[in-house]
Amino acid sequence: MAVIYEKEIERHIGNVKVSKPRWKVSSREVLEFSYLQKVGIVEDNQWITKLRGICLQVSSPARNPHEINVIIKKPFPGKIQFARCSCTGGKSGKSKHTAALLKHVSK
Ligand SMILES: [Zn+2]
Repeated sequence: MAVIYEKEIERHIGNVKVSKPRWKVSSREVLEFSYLQKVGIVEDNQWITKLRGICLQVSSPARNPHEINVIIKKPFPGKIQFARCSCTGGKSGKSKHTAALLKHVSK
């Protein structure tokens, strides 16, 4: 079963102030080039699953990778309760790294 549906990602990221949903393209780029290095479960109980992802900086891979933290509210397919990335603008939880992680666990 899917942890989340792609529709839920769209609900979460869809209201960014951009004219086109460009995150779809950029998150695929991040996935294709394997910049999303690792996704793991850091906490899992009956109510939530907490995921953490590590993503290399596309423009400068030698620098510290971005860290993405996401909390999915159960039951699955769940709701995105919290999302944050360490990149610039990642506080919104809507960066392409976050999108890549969410897409990674969606169906
Ligand atoms: Zn990010």
